[in-house]
Amino acid sequence: MNEGRTVVSLVPCETYEAPKVEYAVRRALDLLDGAVPLIQPGATVLAKPNLLQARPPEAAITTHPTVVDAVVGWAAGLGGRVVIADQPTYSLGRSASRLMEKTGMAALADRRGVATELLAEAGYVECRVPGAHQLPMVHLAQRVVESDIVINLPKCKTHMQTFFTGAVKNMFGGLAPRDRMDLHCLGGFRAVSDAIADLYAARPPHLNVMDAVVVMEGSGPARGEPRPLGLIAASRDGVALDRVMTEVLGFRPGMVRTTEAAAELGAGVSDLQQIEVRGVDLDAVRTSIRIPPSHWTGIPHFLARAARRWLYIRPRVEPALCRACGGCAQVCPTGAIQVGQVATIDRHKCIECFCCQEACSFDAIEVERSWLSQYVS
Ligand code: SF4
Ligand code: SF4
Repeated sequence: MNEGRTVVSLVPCETYEAPKVEYAVRRALDLLDGAVPLIQPGATVLAKPNLLQARPPEAAITTHPTVVDAVVGWAAGLGGRVVIADQPTYSLGRSASRLMEKTGMAALADRRGVATELLAEAGYVECRVPGAHQLPMVHLAQRVVESDIVINLPKCKTHMQTFFTGAVKNMFGGLAPRDRMDLHCLGGFRAVSDAIADLYAARPPHLNVMDAVVVMEGSGPARGEPRPLGLIAASRDGVALDRVMTEVLGFRPGMVRTTEAAAELGAGVSDLQQIEVRGVDLDAVRTSIRIPPSHWTGIPHFLARAARRWLYIRPRVEPALCRACGGCAQVCPTGAIQVGQVATIDRHKCIECFCCQEACSFDAIEVERSWLSQYVS
């Protein structure tokens, strides 16, 4: 009995074989026991995977196409008119075709007879966020705001700026490009996390299905290592879903600020006592992943800033891998990157947001750590 608690379902799924994923997704939805959105025939449905880069599914950077396929099949089977869409920052203004082909979305969309697009194509609309932490007004993708049903399909990964990217962080893809730059310039980890919670609260999705079959640990969301976890997770409440998954992954309580900040805005539940986990015993699936080496959680921010000469974790361009494509410079919120024969970073302008690493499809931006940083966390 859930006694009014928010339900999160966790279903084992060891591989990406399509029948197994389809079974796990259907089971995860069944376990929600009616707490799924009602999709009327003809309803517009946005399926919003994480399509951070044009990389193949085995890189574990994007939501696996078998997971997207299972959810799209379910929604289309109920009569929904489904569009698969996301908006990686680096591909602003570019065609969706390479992104959709590389990530496996184009093939599944063809097979299912549904559309794919970049969220920017339909434009952005202004939304107010009552009680916002940082952003009282945001520009969200029209598809996110106006679709009858929004299904959020996050990939479970670590994140250099927010520690974790799950359901709440995945809706960052719905934010207008001009707002993204402003958001990254807000300052530290907490302010950025609060702003992400603001945009999530402006339009929480109706359903969340997370790909945690293979997750990413370490320097996520683009340069970490894939790690099998063997789970499909679902909930109507993306905040509760993130809270449960960060518990599974071994994050310290309160470490993932996006979860707490979204709950403070009333966009979901972050108190584990108010959440019922169905499908597997939470204790049976707990693990401990490698968190990103990007924040000093144990010392005050001002001390870390003062000791920057000896204590740093910053991006570094690997010249041998750089193709001088300019993607990193395009997304850098402070204009710290110049691209000649290779990209170079102005240390004085860099705020260590690691957006450049997210944008680089050639793995040319690495994490450089000072000797002292190895001993501080
Ligand atoms: S570092 Fe990566 S994104 Fe930047 S110019 Fe080089 S290849 Fe392109
Ligand atoms: S160089 Fe990279 S880490 Fe530094 S501010 Fe620009 S995008 Fe952020």
